[in-house]
Amino acid sequence: SGQLAGKVAIVTGAARGLGRAYALRLAGLGADVVIADLNLDGARDWGEQLGADTVPREIEAMGRRSIGVQGDLSRPADVARLFDETMAALGRVDILVNNAGGAIARESGPRASETTQADYDLLMDANLRTTLLCCQAAVPIMKAQGAGVIVNVTSQTGVSTLPGGLLAVYGASKAAVASLTRTLAAELGPCGIRVNALSPGIIMTARVAAQAAARGIGTNAQAESLPLRRLGEPDDCAGVVEFLVTDLSRYVTGQVICADGGAVLHPN
Ligand code: NAD
Repeated sequence: SGQLAGKVAIVTGAARGLGRAYALRLAGLGADVVIADLNLDGARDWGEQLGADTVPREIEAMGRRSIGVQGDLSRPADVARLFDETMAALGRVDILVNNAGGAIARESGPRASETTQADYDLLMDANLRTTLLCCQAAVPIMKAQGAGVIVNVTSQTGVSTLPGGLLAVYGASKAAVASLTRTLAAELGPCGIRVNALSPGIIMTARVAAQAAARGIGTNAQAESLPLRRLGEPDDCAGVVEFLVTDLSRYVTGQVICADGGAVLHPN
């Protein structure tokens, strides 16, 4: 039962953090969910109490089917294997949430002037290449089904700027994701495929909490500077994902929806 009963969703970067919240939300709506991640053990980096394949087990406990697929989604072969394993295990792909990605955490930003070529490659691969490759793999399947929904993940940094020009190339990679969202929506609308993006502000995941002191991102002062006067929590973003993957948004495509407490309203 549920609005998404019988549907199959792939959520990338879902072994922890926001992706996990999206995967659990979609399962709660009735979908079977594939967890794709570089590292299926979400505990490794930020001390979340998650072990290998935790999220697929959580989803099975909700009465849905779930598999975990390990891979680096900036590599075409890994993306191909993700979609092959999904089709073999679950037989279709109705929903793709391109959440995998991230920034580089350094006290120095990095600002544009501090960004190395290695930083550039890492950021563009993690955010733009993963998104493009997964969309390219999903589209033939969704076209054959005559319908599909894609949600990409951009960022406050991609639609605005942070004070002092922090996270410059991360922002550029996420701005590129927003642009790709619009062009894919234009290309794929006639095939019954909607493509939208979510732009989170500062959302308190285990990662952000662990880095807050060092980076000055996720502090009380930042919360107080936002129009809604608080930092975000994963469910603030999961609600937007729910809207974008269900028929509530059936006439919406090519849009970026910000779940950021109003952060983009404030000039820096
Ligand atoms: P996170 O680091 O906790 O989770 C990201 C997941 O993506 C990790 O499990 C990681 O292993 C996976 N991943 C990264 N690169 C990958 C790759 N090449 N192939 C496969 N998996 C890969 O981060 P999060 O805070 O949950 O953020 C999730 C998404 O939301 C990211 O795209 C991030 O840029 C975006 N975002 C987060 C915030 C925030 O405040 N938390 C704000 C704006 C945007």
